Amino acid sequence: MRHRQPIAEPRMLPEPNRPRPPLTAADGRITNAMSVDVEDYFQVSAFEDLVPRARWDGFESRVVANTDRILGLFEQHGVRATFFVLGWVAERHPRLVRAIADAGHELASHGFDHTRVSGQSPRAFREDVVRTKGLLEDTAGVAVKGYRAASYSIGRDNLWALDVLGEAGYRYSSSIYPIRHDLYGMPEAPRFAFRLHPGAITELPVTTVRIAGRNWPCGGGGFFRLLPYALSRWALRRVNRRDGEPGIFYFHPWEIDPAQPRMAGASRRARFRHYLNLSRMEGRLVRLLQDFAWDRIDRVFGIQVSAGVGEDGP
Ligand SMILES: [Zn+2]
Repeated sequence: MRHRQPIAEPRMLPEPNRPRPPLTAADGRITNAMSVDVEDYFQVSAFEDLVPRARWDGFESRVVANTDRILGLFEQHGVRATFFVLGWVAERHPRLVRAIADAGHELASHGFDHTRVSGQSPRAFREDVVRTKGLLEDTAGVAVKGYRAASYSIGRDNLWALDVLGEAGYRYSSSIYPIRHDLYGMPEAPRFAFRLHPGAITELPVTTVRIAGRNWPCGGGGFFRLLPYALSRWALRRVNRRDGEPGIFYFHPWEIDPAQPRMAGASRRARFRHYLNLSRMEGRLVRLLQDFAWDRIDRVFGIQVSAGVGEDGP
């Protein structure tokens, strides 16, 4: 009963439609889900107090070059992934959006301008996710099924957002991080695919490893840059072997860009989080691509474009 979690309200259901047993590569390894949150170095939450959105256009843009580099790495290692793209980036760089889709990756939404859901009303959130989905779909000519909230900002206080996403036509969200963290997290959320209620969209939490009765992050971000690679590899293997579940990993284009301009006036903590081990990231990423089997989120979890047979049932 590995999905039993101490949750009283609301009741959460294990996702019924993910592939059982999990997808595997030819050599028998579980196929994990790789994802990239496509945003520029000046758009991150760590710098949001320092950089008003109105000033974004004044910064040197590096997201296209960095994402191109990631597309090259994925091509080289035969990896397909899911790219959660900001609407703001898509509006300015439509060719990048098309290049992602044309290379066989899944195009998904990271919201319009990296506003945390926890700071949005349901109405503002709806406008944001409808606008961004339409923009991405019009730009690339593919259906957008997935959404990831800025800074994993869906949690116990705004679970209504999952229903708004369903109404807006999204099929899944990967926006809850079941850990304790100062900026985000819902430690009591299920660690693996679940639905809030029958008919709700699927939530695919970023991967955690369970050690000594606590969830620890092992799905990427700053933790992947902070910890030795061998520890990250051990944790993800443990999820595959002990939990028997695919992991979901994420990173950002700016994380493989050690030469990015430094943000003047940033706090010690923000600088530590953002700049730590940037020069080691690409090497670690390559090892990660080689040591595990990877694919797009929609394929790993059997997410279809529209409800039908095999989704919510006929
Ligand atoms: Zn982000």
